[in-house]
Amino acid sequence: MNYSYWEYKEWFSNIDFTIVGSGIVGLNCALELRKKHPKAKILILEKGILPQGASTKNAGFACFGSLSEIIDDLNTHSEEEVYNLVEKRWNGLQLLRKNLGDSNIDFQQNFGYELFNDKQFFEECLAQKENINKLLKPIFNADVFLVEEYKFGFKNVLPNHFVNIFEGQINTGKMVSELVSKIQKNGIKILNNISVESFSESGNVVEVKTDKITFKTNKLFIATNGFANKLLNEKVQPARAQVLITKPIKNLQIKGTFHLDKGYYYFRNIDDRILFGGGRNLDFKTEQTTEFGETEIIQNELERILKTTILPNTNVEIEHRWSGIMGVGNQKKAIVKQLSNNVFFGVRLGGMGIAIGSLIGKELAELID
Ligand SMILES: Cc1cc2nc3c(=O)[nH]c(=O)nc-3n(C[C@H](O)[C@H](O)[C@H](O)COP(=O)(O)OP(=O)(O)OC[C@H]3O[C@@H](n4cnc5c(N)ncnc54)[C@H](O)[C@@H]3O)c2cc1C
Repeated sequence: MNYSYWEYKEWFSNIDFTIVGSGIVGLNCALELRKKHPKAKILILEKGILPQGASTKNAGFACFGSLSEIIDDLNTHSEEEVYNLVEKRWNGLQLLRKNLGDSNIDFQQNFGYELFNDKQFFEECLAQKENINKLLKPIFNADVFLVEEYKFGFKNVLPNHFVNIFEGQINTGKMVSELVSKIQKNGIKILNNISVESFSESGNVVEVKTDKITFKTNKLFIATNGFANKLLNEKVQPARAQVLITKPIKNLQIKGTFHLDKGYYYFRNIDDRILFGGGRNLDFKTEQTTEFGETEIIQNELERILKTTILPNTNVEIEHRWSGIMGVGNQKKAIVKQLSNNVFFGVRLGGMGIAIGSLIGKELAELID
Protein backbone atom coordinates (compact mmCIF):
# COMPACT_ATOMS: atom_id res chain seq x y z
CA MET A 1 0.00 0.00 0.00
CA ASN A 2 1.20 3.50 -0.79
CA TYR A 3 0.70 6.17 1.85
CA SER A 4 -0.98 9.37 0.66
CA TYR A 5 0.77 12.72 0.44
CA TRP A 6 -1.27 13.83 3.48
CA GLU A 7 -0.45 10.79 5.55
CA TYR A 8 3.20 10.99 4.73
CA LYS A 9 3.42 14.72 5.39
CA GLU A 10 1.46 14.71 8.64
CA TRP A 11 2.92 11.61 10.29
CA PHE A 12 6.25 10.72 8.71
CA SER A 13 7.98 13.93 7.54
CA ASN A 14 10.25 16.37 9.36
CA ILE A 15 10.30 14.31 12.51
CA ASP A 16 12.62 15.61 15.19
CA PHE A 17 12.37 12.79 17.70
CA THR A 18 11.14 9.23 17.29
CA ILE A 19 10.72 6.99 20.30
CA VAL A 20 10.42 3.22 20.00
CA GLY A 21 8.25 1.71 22.74
CA SER A 22 5.33 3.25 24.62
CA GLY A 23 6.03 1.79 28.06
CA ILE A 24 6.76 3.94 31.11
CA VAL A 25 10.19 4.86 29.77
CA GLY A 26 9.17 5.77 26.22
CA LEU A 27 6.20 7.86 27.37
CA ASN A 28 8.22 9.73 30.01
CA CYS A 29 11.04 10.30 27.53
CA ALA A 30 8.57 11.88 25.08
CA LEU A 31 7.06 14.13 27.77
CA GLU A 32 10.49 15.28 28.87
CA LEU A 33 11.51 16.04 25.28
CA ARG A 34 8.35 18.11 24.89
CA LYS A 35 9.22 20.21 27.96
CA LYS A 36 12.53 21.29 26.44
CA HIS A 37 11.44 21.36 22.79
CA PRO A 38 7.93 22.82 22.70
CA LYS A 39 7.80 22.98 18.89
CA ALA A 40 9.41 19.64 18.07
CA LYS A 41 7.61 16.97 16.07
CA ILE A 42 7.64 13.88 18.29
CA LEU A 43 6.48 10.43 17.25
CA ILE A 44 6.15 7.30 19.39
CA LEU A 45 6.01 3.88 17.72
CA GLU A 46 4.53 0.92 19.60
CA LYS A 47 4.24 -2.61 18.29
CA GLY A 48 1.21 -3.54 20.41
CA ILE A 49 -2.31 -2.14 20.37
CA LEU A 50 -1.46 -1.17 23.96
CA PRO A 51 2.04 -1.00 25.41
CA GLN A 52 2.97 -4.63 24.94
CA GLY A 53 5.84 -5.36 27.32
CA ALA A 54 5.66 -4.80 31.05
CA SER A 55 4.19 -1.39 31.76
CA THR A 56 0.54 -2.46 31.51
CA LYS A 57 1.15 -6.01 32.73
CA ASN A 58 2.84 -5.44 36.07
CA ALA A 59 1.66 -5.88 39.65
CA GLY A 60 1.65 -2.20 40.56
CA PHE A 61 4.00 -2.38 43.55
CA ALA A 62 5.41 1.06 44.31
CA CYS A 63 8.43 -0.55 45.94
CA PHE A 64 12.17 -0.06 46.17
CA GLY A 65 13.38 -3.49 47.38
CA SER A 66 12.43 -5.88 50.18
CA LEU A 67 14.86 -6.49 53.04
CA SER A 68 16.07 -9.85 51.69
CA GLU A 69 16.43 -8.41 48.20
CA ILE A 70 18.58 -5.55 49.43
CA ILE A 71 20.70 -7.98 51.47
CA ASP A 72 21.07 -10.16 48.37
CA ASP A 73 22.04 -7.16 46.23
CA LEU A 74 24.92 -6.54 48.64
CA ASN A 75 26.43 -9.84 47.43
CA THR A 76 26.80 -8.50 43.91
CA HIS A 77 26.92 -4.71 44.41
CA SER A 78 28.92 -2.45 46.73
CA GLU A 79 27.17 -0.68 49.65
CA GLU A 80 27.37 2.56 47.72
CA GLU A 81 25.77 0.98 44.64
CA VAL A 82 22.94 -0.48 46.71
CA TYR A 83 22.39 2.86 48.44
CA ASN A 84 22.28 4.60 45.05
CA LEU A 85 19.84 2.02 43.66
CA VAL A 86 17.41 2.48 46.55
CA GLU A 87 17.75 6.26 46.47
CA LYS A 88 17.05 6.32 42.75
CA ARG A 89 13.97 4.12 43.14
CA TRP A 90 12.66 6.29 45.96
CA ASN A 91 13.27 9.52 44.04
CA GLY A 92 11.70 7.92 40.96
CA LEU A 93 8.55 7.08 42.91
CA GLN A 94 8.28 10.68 44.12
CA LEU A 95 8.67 11.88 40.52
CA LEU A 96 5.97 9.49 39.27
CA ARG A 97 3.56 10.72 41.96
CA LYS A 98 4.40 14.37 41.28
CA ASN A 99 4.04 14.00 37.50
CA LEU A 100 0.76 12.10 37.50
CA GLY A 101 -0.89 12.84 40.86
CA ASP A 102 -1.71 10.23 43.50
CA SER A 103 -5.44 10.12 42.79
CA ASN A 104 -4.89 9.62 39.03
CA ILE A 105 -2.87 6.48 39.65
CA ASP A 106 -4.67 5.31 42.80
CA PHE A 107 -1.49 5.53 44.84
CA GLN A 108 -2.01 4.05 48.30
CA GLN A 109 0.65 3.63 50.93
CA ASN A 110 -0.69 0.40 52.38
CA PHE A 111 2.77 -0.86 53.41
CA GLY A 112 4.87 -3.70 52.06
CA TYR A 113 5.38 -7.00 53.84
CA GLU A 114 7.99 -9.69 53.48
CA LEU A 115 6.87 -13.14 54.56
CA PHE A 116 9.09 -16.13 55.30
CA ASN A 117 8.66 -19.87 55.48
CA ASP A 118 12.31 -20.61 56.24
CA LYS A 119 13.29 -19.83 59.85
CA GLN A 120 17.03 -19.80 59.22
CA PHE A 121 16.65 -17.36 56.32
CA PHE A 122 14.39 -15.11 58.40
CA GLU A 123 17.01 -15.08 61.20
CA GLU A 124 19.75 -14.21 58.71
CA CYS A 125 17.73 -11.24 57.44
CA LEU A 126 16.81 -10.20 60.97
CA ALA A 127 20.51 -10.13 61.86
CA GLN A 128 21.14 -7.66 59.02
CA LYS A 129 18.06 -5.51 59.55
CA GLU A 130 19.75 -2.86 61.70
CA ASN A 131 22.65 -2.50 59.27
CA ILE A 132 20.32 -2.03 56.32
CA ASN A 133 18.16 0.46 58.21
CA LYS A 134 21.33 2.37 59.08
CA LEU A 135 22.52 2.30 55.47
CA LEU A 136 19.19 3.71 54.23
CA LYS A 137 18.61 6.22 57.03
CA PRO A 138 19.92 9.24 55.08
CA ILE A 139 17.25 8.59 52.41
CA PHE A 140 14.23 8.00 54.66
CA ASN A 141 15.18 9.67 57.95
CA ALA A 142 13.61 6.68 59.69
CA ASP A 143 13.94 2.92 59.98
CA VAL A 144 12.52 1.35 56.83
CA PHE A 145 12.18 -2.27 57.95
CA LEU A 146 10.39 -3.24 61.16
CA VAL A 147 9.44 -6.64 62.54
CA GLU A 148 5.78 -7.32 63.05
CA GLU A 149 3.64 -10.20 64.17
CA TYR A 150 1.62 -12.20 61.74
CA LYS A 151 -1.83 -10.64 61.19
CA PHE A 152 -3.45 -11.61 57.90
CA GLY A 153 -4.38 -15.26 58.48
CA PHE A 154 -1.76 -16.73 56.15
CA LYS A 155 -0.66 -20.34 56.61
CA ASN A 156 2.72 -22.01 56.16
CA VAL A 157 4.63 -18.81 56.95
CA LEU A 158 6.54 -17.83 60.09
CA PRO A 159 4.68 -15.88 62.80
CA ASN A 160 6.86 -12.80 62.24
CA HIS A 161 7.40 -10.80 59.09
CA PHE A 162 9.08 -7.56 58.07
CA VAL A 163 7.01 -4.52 57.29
CA ASN A 164 8.13 -1.59 55.15
CA ILE A 165 6.03 1.46 55.96
CA PHE A 166 7.25 3.37 52.90
CA GLU A 167 6.00 0.86 50.33
CA GLY A 168 2.81 1.56 48.39
CA GLN A 169 0.74 0.36 45.46
CA ILE A 170 -0.73 1.91 42.33
CA ASN A 171 -3.22 1.05 39.62
CA THR A 172 -0.98 0.20 36.69
CA GLY A 173 -3.68 0.63 34.03
CA LYS A 174 -4.47 4.11 35.31
CA MET A 175 -0.79 5.05 35.33
CA VAL A 176 -0.29 4.25 31.65
CA SER A 177 -3.64 5.69 30.67
CA GLU A 178 -2.75 8.95 32.46
CA LEU A 179 0.62 9.05 30.72
CA VAL A 180 -0.99 8.48 27.31
CA SER A 181 -3.51 11.22 27.93
CA LYS A 182 -0.65 13.62 28.82
CA ILE A 183 1.10 12.60 25.62
CA GLN A 184 -1.98 13.46 23.59
CA LYS A 185 -2.47 16.78 25.38
CA ASN A 186 1.15 17.63 24.56
CA GLY A 187 0.66 17.15 20.82
CA ILE A 188 2.81 14.02 20.65
CA LYS A 189 1.70 11.39 18.16
CA ILE A 190 1.57 7.69 19.07
CA LEU A 191 1.20 5.02 16.43
CA ASN A 192 0.27 1.54 17.59
CA ASN A 193 0.59 -1.79 15.87
CA ILE A 194 3.81 -0.81 14.14
CA SER A 195 7.08 -2.58 14.81
CA VAL A 196 10.54 -1.12 14.24
CA GLU A 197 12.68 -3.68 12.44
CA SER A 198 15.97 -1.83 12.02
CA PHE A 199 17.56 1.60 11.71
CA SER A 200 20.58 3.09 10.00
CA GLU A 201 22.27 6.43 10.42
CA SER A 202 23.67 8.61 7.71
CA GLY A 203 24.87 12.14 8.37
CA ASN A 204 22.41 13.88 10.60
CA VAL A 205 19.45 11.63 10.03
CA VAL A 206 18.37 8.18 11.09
CA GLU A 207 16.39 6.02 8.70
CA VAL A 208 13.87 3.91 10.56
CA LYS A 209 12.56 0.75 8.92
CA THR A 210 9.30 -0.58 10.33
CA ASP A 211 6.99 -3.39 9.25
CA LYS A 212 4.68 -0.73 7.77
CA ILE A 213 6.82 2.11 6.42
CA THR A 214 10.38 3.45 6.24
CA PHE A 215 10.97 7.10 7.21
CA LYS A 216 13.60 9.51 8.51
CA THR A 217 13.99 11.14 11.92
CA ASN A 218 16.60 13.48 13.38
CA LYS A 219 17.02 11.52 16.62
CA LEU A 220 15.95 8.03 17.64
CA PHE A 221 15.28 6.90 21.23
CA ILE A 222 14.92 3.18 21.93
CA ALA A 223 12.86 2.24 25.00
CA THR A 224 12.08 -1.40 24.29
CA ASN A 225 13.33 -2.93 27.56
CA GLY A 226 12.93 -6.75 27.41
CA PHE A 227 12.92 -6.64 23.61
CA ALA A 228 16.11 -4.54 23.48
CA ASN A 229 18.23 -7.18 21.81
CA LYS A 230 16.13 -7.15 18.67
CA LEU A 231 17.49 -3.66 17.92
CA LEU A 232 20.57 -3.34 20.17
CA ASN A 233 23.52 -5.41 21.19
CA GLU A 234 23.37 -4.91 24.96
CA LYS A 235 23.42 -7.12 28.05
CA VAL A 236 19.66 -7.34 28.48
CA GLN A 237 17.87 -10.67 28.91
CA PRO A 238 14.14 -10.97 28.41
CA ALA A 239 12.38 -12.35 31.48
CA ARG A 240 8.76 -13.36 31.32
CA ALA A 241 6.69 -12.94 34.49
CA GLN A 242 3.33 -14.67 34.97
CA VAL A 243 0.42 -13.41 37.01
CA LEU A 244 -3.09 -14.46 38.02
CA ILE A 245 -5.98 -12.60 39.58
CA THR A 246 -8.85 -14.00 41.64
CA LYS A 247 -12.53 -13.27 41.38
CA PRO A 248 -13.77 -10.77 44.01
CA ILE A 249 -13.52 -12.16 47.55
CA LYS A 250 -16.06 -11.21 50.22
CA ASN A 251 -14.60 -9.48 53.29
CA LEU A 252 -11.06 -9.68 52.01
CA GLN A 253 -8.83 -8.67 54.94
CA ILE A 254 -5.52 -8.65 53.06
CA LYS A 255 -4.31 -5.14 52.31
CA GLY A 256 -0.84 -4.20 51.10
CA THR A 257 1.93 -5.51 48.89
CA PHE A 258 3.53 -8.82 49.88
CA HIS A 259 6.84 -10.45 49.00
CA LEU A 260 7.37 -14.14 49.59
CA ASP A 261 10.28 -16.53 49.09
CA LYS A 262 13.04 -13.95 48.40
CA GLY A 263 10.67 -11.96 46.20
CA TYR A 264 10.15 -14.82 43.73
CA TYR A 265 6.45 -14.54 44.60
CA TYR A 266 4.48 -11.35 45.12
CA PHE A 267 0.83 -10.56 45.79
CA ARG A 268 -1.42 -7.64 46.67
CA ASN A 269 -5.03 -6.65 47.11
CA ILE A 270 -6.83 -4.87 44.29
CA ASP A 271 -10.59 -4.30 43.95
CA ASP A 272 -11.44 -7.01 46.57
CA ARG A 273 -9.25 -9.47 44.72
CA ILE A 274 -5.77 -10.91 45.09
CA LEU A 275 -3.32 -10.38 42.26
CA PHE A 276 -0.54 -12.95 42.54
CA GLY A 277 2.58 -13.40 40.43
CA GLY A 278 5.99 -14.97 40.33
CA GLY A 279 7.47 -18.43 40.12
CA ARG A 280 10.08 -17.67 37.43
CA ASN A 281 12.59 -19.53 39.58
CA LEU A 282 10.69 -22.77 38.87
CA ASP A 283 11.72 -22.66 35.23
CA PHE A 284 14.16 -19.82 34.51
CA LYS A 285 15.13 -21.20 31.11
CA THR A 286 11.62 -21.31 29.64
CA GLU A 287 10.85 -17.88 31.10
CA GLN A 288 13.83 -16.29 29.37
CA THR A 289 11.70 -15.39 26.39
CA THR A 290 10.05 -12.49 24.61
CA GLU A 291 6.97 -14.64 23.90
CA PHE A 292 3.90 -14.01 26.03
CA GLY A 293 2.23 -17.06 27.55
CA GLU A 294 1.37 -18.96 30.70
CA THR A 295 2.78 -22.36 31.64
CA GLU A 296 1.25 -25.15 33.71
CA ILE A 297 4.23 -25.53 36.02
CA ILE A 298 4.12 -21.89 37.14
CA GLN A 299 0.37 -21.34 37.10
CA ASN A 300 -0.23 -24.55 39.10
CA GLU A 301 2.28 -23.46 41.73
CA LEU A 302 0.75 -19.98 41.94
CA GLU A 303 -2.65 -21.54 42.43
CA ARG A 304 -1.33 -23.97 45.05
CA ILE A 305 0.36 -21.23 47.12
CA LEU A 306 -2.70 -19.01 46.76
CA LYS A 307 -4.97 -21.71 48.17
CA THR A 308 -2.69 -23.16 50.85
CA THR A 309 -0.76 -20.10 52.06
CA ILE A 310 -2.46 -16.84 51.13
CA LEU A 311 -6.16 -17.69 51.38
CA PRO A 312 -6.22 -21.06 53.17
CA ASN A 313 -9.72 -20.59 54.58
CA THR A 314 -11.44 -19.08 51.56
CA ASN A 315 -13.10 -20.68 48.60
CA VAL A 316 -11.24 -18.77 45.93
CA GLU A 317 -11.64 -18.82 42.16
CA ILE A 318 -9.18 -17.58 39.53
CA GLU A 319 -10.66 -15.11 37.06
CA HIS A 320 -7.80 -14.34 34.73
CA ARG A 321 -4.12 -15.05 33.99
CA TRP A 322 -1.52 -13.17 31.94
CA SER A 323 2.17 -12.56 31.46
CA GLY A 324 4.52 -9.66 30.71
CA ILE A 325 8.11 -9.37 29.52
CA MET A 326 10.76 -7.66 31.64
CA GLY A 327 14.34 -6.77 30.74
CA VAL A 328 16.92 -7.98 33.27
CA GLY A 329 20.69 -8.45 33.59
CA ASN A 330 23.36 -9.38 36.10
CA GLN A 331 23.44 -5.76 37.30
CA LYS A 332 20.32 -4.09 38.68
CA LYS A 333 21.15 -0.74 37.13
CA ALA A 334 19.21 0.29 34.03
CA ILE A 335 21.28 1.14 30.94
CA VAL A 336 20.82 4.68 29.62
CA LYS A 337 23.30 5.37 26.84
CA GLN A 338 24.08 7.12 23.61
CA LEU A 339 24.65 4.56 20.87
CA SER A 340 25.82 6.92 18.11
CA ASN A 341 25.44 10.57 17.12
CA ASN A 342 21.68 10.42 16.83
CA VAL A 343 20.58 7.18 18.51
CA PHE A 344 20.00 6.77 22.26
CA PHE A 345 18.51 4.06 24.46
CA GLY A 346 17.17 3.42 27.96
CA VAL A 347 16.55 -0.25 28.78
CA ARG A 348 16.90 -3.04 31.44
CA LEU A 349 14.41 -1.79 34.02
CA GLY A 350 14.20 -5.15 35.83
CA GLY A 351 11.31 -5.56 38.24
CA MET A 352 11.38 -1.93 39.40
CA GLY A 353 10.05 0.01 36.42
CA ILE A 354 7.30 1.73 38.39
CA ALA A 355 9.94 3.18 40.68
CA ILE A 356 12.56 4.10 38.13
CA GLY A 357 10.63 4.37 34.84
CA SER A 358 9.89 8.11 35.12
CA LEU A 359 13.52 8.94 35.93
CA ILE A 360 14.96 6.67 33.24
CA GLY A 361 12.66 8.28 30.65
CA LYS A 362 13.85 11.70 31.79
CA GLU A 363 17.52 10.66 31.71
CA LEU A 364 17.05 9.21 28.24
CA ALA A 365 15.63 12.49 26.95
CA GLU A 366 18.43 14.44 28.65
CA LEU A 367 21.09 12.54 26.70
CA ILE A 368 20.68 15.03 23.85
CA ASP A 369 21.28 18.08 26.07
C1 LIG B 1 4.19 -9.39 35.53
C2 LIG B 1 5.06 -8.23 35.88
C3 LIG B 1 4.98 -7.69 37.16
C4 LIG B 1 5.75 -6.56 37.49
N1 LIG B 1 5.55 -5.96 38.68
C5 LIG B 1 6.18 -4.80 38.96
C6 LIG B 1 5.88 -4.09 40.14
O1 LIG B 1 5.02 -4.49 40.90
N2 LIG B 1 6.56 -2.94 40.39
C7 LIG B 1 7.52 -2.47 39.52
O2 LIG B 1 8.13 -1.43 39.80
N3 LIG B 1 7.78 -3.10 38.37
C8 LIG B 1 7.13 -4.26 38.07
N4 LIG B 1 7.38 -4.89 36.90
C9 LIG B 1 8.41 -4.33 36.01
C10 LIG B 1 7.91 -3.09 35.26
O3 LIG B 1 6.64 -3.32 34.74
C11 LIG B 1 8.92 -2.75 34.15
O4 LIG B 1 10.19 -2.53 34.73
C12 LIG B 1 8.54 -1.50 33.36
O5 LIG B 1 7.20 -1.56 32.94
C13 LIG B 1 9.46 -1.36 32.15
O6 LIG B 1 9.03 -0.25 31.40
P1 LIG B 1 9.66 0.01 29.96
O7 LIG B 1 9.00 1.19 29.43
O8 LIG B 1 11.15 0.00 30.07
O9 LIG B 1 9.33 -1.30 29.14
P2 LIG B 1 7.96 -1.84 28.54
O10 LIG B 1 6.79 -1.46 29.35
O11 LIG B 1 8.16 -3.29 28.25
O12 LIG B 1 7.85 -1.02 27.18
C14 LIG B 1 8.60 -1.35 26.04
C15 LIG B 1 7.66 -1.21 24.87
O13 LIG B 1 8.39 -1.33 23.65
C16 LIG B 1 7.56 -1.97 22.71
N5 LIG B 1 8.43 -2.51 21.66
C17 LIG B 1 9.37 -3.46 21.81
N6 LIG B 1 10.01 -3.67 20.66
C18 LIG B 1 9.45 -2.84 19.75
C19 LIG B 1 9.70 -2.58 18.37
N7 LIG B 1 10.66 -3.24 17.69
N8 LIG B 1 8.92 -1.67 17.72
C20 LIG B 1 7.94 -0.99 18.39
N9 LIG B 1 7.69 -1.19 19.71
C21 LIG B 1 8.44 -2.10 20.38
C22 LIG B 1 6.86 -3.04 23.52
O14 LIG B 1 5.68 -3.48 22.89
C23 LIG B 1 6.61 -2.31 24.83
O15 LIG B 1 5.34 -1.71 24.91
C24 LIG B 1 6.67 -6.02 36.53
C25 LIG B 1 6.76 -6.60 35.26
C26 LIG B 1 5.96 -7.68 34.93
C27 LIG B 1 6.08 -8.26 33.55
